[in-house]
Amino acid sequence: MSETKLPLDDAQHADSARALADVLERVSARTFRDELIDAGLLIPTGVDGLYGRSEVFESVVEGINQLVTRMGADQNAEVMRFPPAMNRADFEDSEYLKSFPNLAGTVHSFCGGDREHHRLLKCLEDGEDWMGDQKPTRVVLTPAACYPCYPVVAKRGPLPAEGRTVDVYSYCFRHEPSLDPARMQMFRMREYVRMGTPAQIVAFRQMWIERGKQLVETLALPHWIDLANDPFFGRGGKIVADSQRAQELKFELLIPIESEEKPTACLSFNYHMDHFGEIWKFRTEDGEIAHTGCVGFGMERTTLAMFRHHGLDVAQWPASVREALWGAR
Ligand code: ATP
Ligand code: ZN
Ligand code: MG
Repeated sequence: MSETKLPLDDAQHADSARALADVLERVSARTFRDELIDAGLLIPTGVDGLYGRSEVFESVVEGINQLVTRMGADQNAEVMRFPPAMNRADFEDSEYLKSFPNLAGTVHSFCGGDREHHRLLKCLEDGEDWMGDQKPTRVVLTPAACYPCYPVVAKRGPLPAEGRTVDVYSYCFRHEPSLDPARMQMFRMREYVRMGTPAQIVAFRQMWIERGKQLVETLALPHWIDLANDPFFGRGGKIVADSQRAQELKFELLIPIESEEKPTACLSFNYHMDHFGEIWKFRTEDGEIAHTGCVGFGMERTTLAMFRHHGLDVAQWPASVREALWGAR
């Protein structure tokens, strides 16, 4: 059967012109990342996932941080602030490299003498690899805000009957360069970390799932909770991830940022069971290996979700949201 093609009439011309314009707009559409950069909220550095932040961006981060502090005021948490680096020996003990070798960031430093210095400068001048004399230091970059606190608490001996809760806040590093502004290489995580009996950890996590939902409702952000897993490395990784899911060890609070179909994890609620307790041999009051868990607030991601859903101009944000962040001002 043959089909006769009739010449397009004016309306059809207009339709196809509109369709073409749509396609062109989508192709040339500025991404959310472009918009954030153009608005000056994120300052590009030339490295994917490494940004400076503007005053306005930081004021949102700090507003959210204070909301978290208010929510956790009843937690009797011990505040610990570490720099965004940790003891390499503790990092090695943590078994992070077993699960996520690809994400880790190590710190190296020049350890040579004059001869090596000259060689380094010559390499730089010739555009050659100058890293040969850079040697590992005793420091690595913190992969998650809670990591430095376990060995510190473990050294104090058995936990009191009520367990312990620690409040940490740190820049973290993960080598996952991306053009998705919500996947940074250096970003901040605020966490409450719970150490105690399995029952204490499970109750803590359930309570913070509820509080996490409350927090983002206060911020008028769409969200839902889902079971999750960590991206364990390698061939064995899938098995570990499946088992983490089967045991329901990790939940995330998701908010659409880059896409509706693949919403972004902005908060996470983790139960590590006896993983850290076993490594650093810390115990509950009655001599059992301690269990641990943590709730992590992704500060940049939650902030980006605000710009995504309320617009780039904070002056135009809903009054209730502005008040929650900054009080009446
Ligand atoms: P994803 O699955 O998106 O990689 P994650 O499971 O690795 O997230 P966690 O390890 O649970 O995230 O980290 C705790 C919180 O830190 C996350 O809920 C998120 O808000 C934030 N976070 C994690 N990775 C990044 C990143 N690359 N950039 C910005 N924030 C991040
Ligand atoms: Zn944690
Ligand atoms: Mg990840």
